[in-house]
Amino acid sequence: MYNSKSKIATEFIDDAEIKKTLAYAEENKENLELIRGLIKRAEDCKGLNYKEAALLLECEDPEIHQELFSLAERIKEKFYGNRIVMFAPLYLSNYCINGCRYCPYHGKNKSITRKKLTQEDIVKEVTALQDMGHKRLALEAGEDPKMNPIEYILECIDTIYSIKHKNGAIRRVNVNIAATTVENYKKLKDAGIGTYILFQETYNKESYEYLHPTGPKSDYAYHTEAMDRAMEAGIDDVGCGVLFGLNMYKYDFVGILMHAQHLEDTFGCGPHTISVPRVRPADDIDPDEFDNGVPDDVFKRIIAVLRIAVPYTGIIMSTRESKEMRAAALHLGVSQISGGSRTSVGGYVEEEPEEDNSAQFDVSDTRTLNQVVDWLIDEGHVPSFCTACYREGRTGDRFMSLVKSGQIANICQPNALMTLKEYLEDYASPETKEKGEAIIRKRLEMIPNEKVKELVREHLGDIHQGRRDFRL
Ligand code: SF4
Ligand code: SF4
Repeated sequence: MYNSKSKIATEFIDDAEIKKTLAYAEENKENLELIRGLIKRAEDCKGLNYKEAALLLECEDPEIHQELFSLAERIKEKFYGNRIVMFAPLYLSNYCINGCRYCPYHGKNKSITRKKLTQEDIVKEVTALQDMGHKRLALEAGEDPKMNPIEYILECIDTIYSIKHKNGAIRRVNVNIAATTVENYKKLKDAGIGTYILFQETYNKESYEYLHPTGPKSDYAYHTEAMDRAMEAGIDDVGCGVLFGLNMYKYDFVGILMHAQHLEDTFGCGPHTISVPRVRPADDIDPDEFDNGVPDDVFKRIIAVLRIAVPYTGIIMSTRESKEMRAAALHLGVSQISGGSRTSVGGYVEEEPEEDNSAQFDVSDTRTLNQVVDWLIDEGHVPSFCTACYREGRTGDRFMSLVKSGQIANICQPNALMTLKEYLEDYASPETKEKGEAIIRKRLEMIPNEKVKELVREHLGDIHQGRRDFRL
């Protein structure tokens, strides 16, 4: 029986309820009056439930698609303005004992090069990331209790926060590691992590068990209930995601919204972020089995309807996607993107030769961070390196209530401008710097509160004089 407040995975992600939802969406997909009624209601930016969202996604009418895209863009604009938060993944270790069929790090893959960063390596990698201009990282590691125990991850986090190279600093470390115990989540919380990220991959239990035949990750319930344990341990911000292309996307779309509902109903706070990766080619993975099964047009609708359904949740898109798809997605609700990413272990210091491949997947957008920043400015966005909320203690429900009040927009924009200014002073090419200064001048004038505007103007001057790390 479906129960959004249950602690049991198969009750808060109920297979029968998902199938019933999909049947309802199929039956009503031509009922344009009903659908337009939902779109109108969603204008209030209070979100939609999984059943309503499933119906919007199912509708095949091209005019409705345009209405969805346009609503998603308006909601994005209202909550996030034109700022886009930047981050980079940092691969710590690709040792893994799991058997995930879609990932080249699976334990039986003998052709991939296994690597694990030492603390000295981390200093070099993080220095390289700081020299690019990054302030926010997502740590990635395979699951291997001997090679990558929790103590190793904690030591890496400590090292990362301690590195200060020139004006560089990593101010927020998000962590994407395997499902673990409440005790270990408490240790991560104490280490000062930002978001705990864990992708469900697929919510369909049968597919999940096929895709994860061996290793600890094969336990569907343990994996699906991980966010509950993380939140019980005091981690306020959790990041969900599915790997689109593994299973029927409609099923996973409903699944992820049910998961969000469960977290909201149980802890009073939904996921901080939702990631939308699609399967990419990788070493030792059968391209015929995982062929990126979600077409671009459907993928865009998935993003738009997610933005409409959960307006307060950040949507993350990585460099798995091409420049073209990322450009489109930014208008549909994506609020965070990675830039200049390397998906191999140690890849920021040294590019790997082809025969020495430790990458998890092929990057599609291979531009440098400066090129991505430059492009975002050209497209009218403000690239932001802001990490203020987490450092000001605005996490979990405190963060959500600020977003819901609409006030966050007044905080984000000033922080975006100040952190962009830092980037321009320290890392940008002369051409990007010029464009960036122009967008800062323009956007500064648009800050409605005069006192805040004056304060930001003052801090922009301070940053030019060499001072760093201002935030609201
Ligand atoms: Fe290991 Fe994660 Fe890859 Fe699975 S997806 S093989 S758990 S690194
Ligand atoms: Fe994110 Fe908070 Fe910074 Fe806004 S102010 S960009 S919500 S960290």
